[in-house]
Amino acid sequence: MNIYDTIVQIIVFWLGAAIGSFLNVVVYRVPAGLSILWPPSRCPKCFHQLGMGENIPILGWLLLRGKCRHCRTPISPRYPLIEAITAIIFVLVYNRYGLSIQTVGYSLLMCWLLALILIDLDTMTLPNPITQSGLVLGLAFQATAGFLDQRAILGSKEYFIQGILAMVIGIWIYDAIQIIGSIMMGQLAQGGGDAKLMAMIGAWTSWKVVLLAGGMASALALVGFMAVAGYSMIKHGGNAGANQLTQPLPLGPFIAVGATIALFWGDSLIESYQQFMMSPDRYILAVPLLIFLSVLLVWTRKMRLRSL
Ligand SMILES: [Zn+2]
Repeated sequence: MNIYDTIVQIIVFWLGAAIGSFLNVVVYRVPAGLSILWPPSRCPKCFHQLGMGENIPILGWLLLRGKCRHCRTPISPRYPLIEAITAIIFVLVYNRYGLSIQTVGYSLLMCWLLALILIDLDTMTLPNPITQSGLVLGLAFQATAGFLDQRAILGSKEYFIQGILAMVIGIWIYDAIQIIGSIMMGQLAQGGGDAKLMAMIGAWTSWKVVLLAGGMASALALVGFMAVAGYSMIKHGGNAGANQLTQPLPLGPFIAVGATIALFWGDSLIESYQQFMMSPDRYILAVPLLIFLSVLLVWTRKMRLRSL
């Protein structure tokens, strides 16, 4: 790594941290129906406006030791954490795609996904203004990438059409997840926003990423579901664990994380899957895995029925 690259990495990191700071505002204000531009960042308790030093991402919180300078109200460590996570994501995207339109596009997609994950966890909704603006921006990104990419066989129009196609496939995959999920586990979290989220991811990427994201999201949701049920069973006993399974689980975060994995590691995942399918001992590994998954599914299904 040379000095030039180190400087670019540092700039990318701080750019990510600053945008993460803005995402905190979006996540807090959009579900509440407040303006994201006015007023500037302030303490939610005493409305003291943050000064220059206090507004620095990550460091501002550390300097204040997590408290408002005026009224000493604790400020959640979630804010600097989101800033740090955004900064790390920006560096990861830059290292994957270099100085290119893809880095700009996928960094923006990650911002939209991160905001949607947090809002879904907070409020169990995916606000239309965010999914819809993300969808339009995704198609604009595809058209721009096609226009700028000289090596590509596809032109701007083809990229745009690819985005629209993946969008439609995204909605279909979401419907498929809903139907299969309902058959296997009883009820699933019903959210119109989730289908829009899948469409938005499609608009930014390709049908391959959407397919993989859907598969990853289902697998992650299943594991998350088991973890939540298992945790509350250990903590509150069997009936509480069964009760927990009737609670709707927000699917948005799983879809967003699935899409991120598909975008970063999709190629190598498909490659190792193909290698696995060609290896002679695939049955030795696949059969126990299938049995394990079936037992887990039957167990959750039973737990659900018992608690209904
Ligand atoms: Zn205050």
